[in-house]
Amino acid sequence: MMPKKMLFAGLFSCLISSGYGQEIPKLSDQHFPGVIELHVDATNLGQKIFSVHERIPVKPGKMVLLYPEWLPGTHSPEAQMAQLGGLKITANHHALEWKRDEVNIFAFHLDVPAGVSEIDADFQYLSPLNDKQGTILVTPEMLAIHWEKVVLYPAGYYSHNIDVEASVTLPPEWQFASALELRDQNGANVRFKPISLEDFIDSPLYAGQFFKRFDLDPGSKVPVYFDVFADAPENLEAKPEQIELHRALLQQAYKLYGSHHFDHYDFLVAASDHFSFEGLEHHQSGENGVKPNYFTDWDKGLALRGYLIPHEFSHSWDGKFRRPAGQLNGNFNLPMKNSLLWVYEGQTEYWGFVLAARSGLLTTEQVRDAMAMSAAYLVYSPGREWRALQDTTNDPVINQRRPLGWPDWQRAEDYYDEGALIWIDADTKIRELSGDKRSLNDFAQLFFGVENGRHSPLTYTFDDVVAALNKVQPYDWAQFLRERLDSHGPGAPMDGLTRAGWKLVFTDTPTAYYKSLVDEGGGVDCWYSLGLTISKGGHVGRVMWNGLAFKAGLSSDAQLLGVNGREYSEELLKSAITKAKTSKEAIELLFKKDGRFQTVKFDYHEGLKYPKLERIEGARDRLDEILSPIK
Ligand SMILES: [Zn+2]
Repeated sequence: MMPKKMLFAGLFSCLISSGYGQEIPKLSDQHFPGVIELHVDATNLGQKIFSVHERIPVKPGKMVLLYPEWLPGTHSPEAQMAQLGGLKITANHHALEWKRDEVNIFAFHLDVPAGVSEIDADFQYLSPLNDKQGTILVTPEMLAIHWEKVVLYPAGYYSHNIDVEASVTLPPEWQFASALELRDQNGANVRFKPISLEDFIDSPLYAGQFFKRFDLDPGSKVPVYFDVFADAPENLEAKPEQIELHRALLQQAYKLYGSHHFDHYDFLVAASDHFSFEGLEHHQSGENGVKPNYFTDWDKGLALRGYLIPHEFSHSWDGKFRRPAGQLNGNFNLPMKNSLLWVYEGQTEYWGFVLAARSGLLTTEQVRDAMAMSAAYLVYSPGREWRALQDTTNDPVINQRRPLGWPDWQRAEDYYDEGALIWIDADTKIRELSGDKRSLNDFAQLFFGVENGRHSPLTYTFDDVVAALNKVQPYDWAQFLRERLDSHGPGAPMDGLTRAGWKLVFTDTPTAYYKSLVDEGGGVDCWYSLGLTISKGGHVGRVMWNGLAFKAGLSSDAQLLGVNGREYSEELLKSAITKAKTSKEAIELLFKKDGRFQTVKFDYHEGLKYPKLERIEGARDRLDEILSPIK
């Protein structure tokens, strides 16, 4: 591979000039002289404040410190500058004034006096106190340190050319886990070995009062741990057979990819009702937010177990090791290009579910039910009319995951689910064309499984994906992919499921997987019937663009108060929709919206509708073959 410094040198220079006096240095391919020392005091749990001290080697003259803005895995400039407070910079104990760049608010200009060889930066990371301020990363029982939130670094250097030595003071008696390698520990004071800024930010630290580590590969030279931090000690009571399923996930991933690209790997798991971080991939670790009952109520939380855990793990290969060229942007303050997220996220989405079934974390039936849910949603999403799937790869930047008023029309990062449909399409096409001798498993080995043990990212382009597919099975893959990425429908690409021997149908009974998702939040899903969802307490969750509720003028800021003249309850709504099947009477719903009451009559008689997959009689069951473990 061409070194990334060659790929990006000078590419973004026009974007990083401040335009107001002092310039932000362009990237140059030099190793940053010296090591940045960073200390985080993480003991103030009550106020969720991290106190940071940084010592940065410098030379006299003008320099710029950057606060990371573009965060890997989020695919967006998601950093919250407002959470940094109290910044004081000193040189030889004298205050050194900083000036924020007038254009780039993530940049601080300094003028280092003569005779100064290092500066000290002190500041706080004011971790969100509630969900409205941001993600909750600190609770009385656990915390996560995302290093990008607690570090300033010099502009002008590639992040792989800057070394950082970090230390942290944790609450007394707490235990921790991280992909960072330990240098030494003295009680609650922990020091890590120096590491490049790029890998440092990719190696968050989790710590907590209630912790249990499960070894997923005992005796291996490449240790893999399942590190669980929980709200209470009883949440850590895993059954041996549950741990075996996670071990099977590891072995099935090794068999799928035929390689590993980490020296060790830590699943960082927060089993909590209060910690609100959900999931983020890293090269040698993954962050996974689950419910406290992850182990103790095994029939619940299917989505987190079956979707999140295998998905984030797969990213070590797809996304971190093999990385779209535009994702490796030199440092954390230059824009990423997201056009290949339908591989990075879309194929990971596919392998995540496939690995969930192959490992046994979910049954094949549960995975089929999950696929039915996402396929049905996409088939009925009209947003494709105006936005091709390719354009949705811009959504992390456009919307940064804020809630949307009309998600099926606006489209929200459909490159995940619709990307997965493209990959089952490709998988079954390879199987069909090769007489079921080859499959997307071969692509995984060829594309992600190269250079076993190599750690540094290997970038790829659209043409590289096409070339690898052609090696597995000659076909016009460029056209195959572009048709699916650039088309306007109608409907989602469903050929993959058809070739896999299954079709989408609707029944009046929700699948177990569906129930495990919906029952947790409460509410009633009338998406495929009345064209809306009702969340807990009667609030309208979503309204389907051009569905029945839409045509009645409803939107997601309404509240359902009554059903056929009686006070709303979930059971009453479901029974009213069911009874209307055998009646000519309309279903009459009373809503409150903008301080006004609105009665809506739904002349609808097809009952409740929930998606599931049904076998196409006589067709080969390729889905069963795809979901079966690799021997
Ligand atoms: Zn992902």
